[in-house]
Amino acid sequence: MKKDMHEIFREAFKCLGIEALRLIVGHRNSPSTQRELIRKRPHPKHLTLKGQQKRDRKDTLDRKFNIEGIPSLIVLKPSGDILTSSGVEEVQAVSDEAFRLWSEGKALFWTRSPGEDEHVWDDIACTRCHMRPIVGTRYGCAHQDCDIDLCEDCLTKYTHDHPIEKYLIPKKSYSLEHLFVSIPYLLAPKKGENIETKTLWNDDVKNIAIYFSAKWYSPAQEFTSKLAQLYEEVQTSDHPFRIIFVSSDENESSFDEFRADMPWPAVPFNKGAILKQYFQCGVHTLIVLSSEGKIVTRRGRNYVSSRGIEALKTWAKGERLSPLTEDEFEWAGFYCDGCETAPMIGKRYHCSTCGNYDLCSVCEKKGHEHPLELVPIPNDE
Ligand SMILES: [Zn+2]
Ligand SMILES: [Zn+2]
Ligand SMILES: [Zn+2]
Ligand SMILES: [Zn+2]
Repeated sequence: MKKDMHEIFREAFKCLGIEALRLIVGHRNSPSTQRELIRKRPHPKHLTLKGQQKRDRKDTLDRKFNIEGIPSLIVLKPSGDILTSSGVEEVQAVSDEAFRLWSEGKALFWTRSPGEDEHVWDDIACTRCHMRPIVGTRYGCAHQDCDIDLCEDCLTKYTHDHPIEKYLIPKKSYSLEHLFVSIPYLLAPKKGENIETKTLWNDDVKNIAIYFSAKWYSPAQEFTSKLAQLYEEVQTSDHPFRIIFVSSDENESSFDEFRADMPWPAVPFNKGAILKQYFQCGVHTLIVLSSEGKIVTRRGRNYVSSRGIEALKTWAKGERLSPLTEDEFEWAGFYCDGCETAPMIGKRYHCSTCGNYDLCSVCEKKGHEHPLELVPIPNDE
């Protein structure tokens, strides 16, 4: 990445012939790389921090420019004021244009202040006018090969090969109708006829589930077979339960392979991006929604794993399950440092002396050199 930056920088200089810009790239963890990467320095006064010891300087520069991650590129005006702190993102957006604008003392990104009820899309830039963050309605293309974002002004000026879709605002609540507005039909299981999406909640359906998963995610196979078995079972009861699959597969053929054994319908490949963005969930998640579109639980997978058919039957009736107990709770993203079980299920014991160290209830009994604390399960639903 940093090498690329220098490459682009040199290219841009070659054609512009402007020597007004200086590129400095620092590396937090490796002073030798940092020396190697520093090609041109700005006026020393911009790097001088009075009263600081030399070893603190890098850290203080990080703080001065509010740097949280690398690579990070801050473009300064001759006065030392910041022209843009999104240098990397501006170069990634349009390198030539970014360098040209900087040499004229302008930044590529711009934005406006939000009006009442307008959403601010942090870190998202309009591909066309470079408004960043996008304020107001955000549009995009759900096609896997496309990575475009448009603000509402650019929408009308832009022609695109695929259908343009409107993003849903995270955490805002929508009806099921609205959530699936860009997905008018679903692919039926077992190569059946397409299904009109709204028929899924037409007849007195209490709750539905959206299953986000992907074939490449190895634990997904086993869970999918279990869910399929329970799903078939619950269809024979008085209250059938509906599930819709949203794929994070890499291509359409693995999507088709993965859903071949699924007895529930799927959102067409390339049509799930809006839902994935809205729910902001992990690759392997089962979200249960009420018929009004309210989230019943985001931990559907955990409930299915520990409660089995009871979970599906309860949701189908429109009832809630009792909260997951300490012994049932699945700690997504945590593994046991003793037996390396991942993810950790059940009681989790944390060692604050070691820091990033957790043990499952079995390993906790074997003892640890420091005192351990039982981590309470989060109450986030
Ligand atoms: Zn725009
Ligand atoms: Zn597209
Ligand atoms: Zn363990
Ligand atoms: Zn410890």
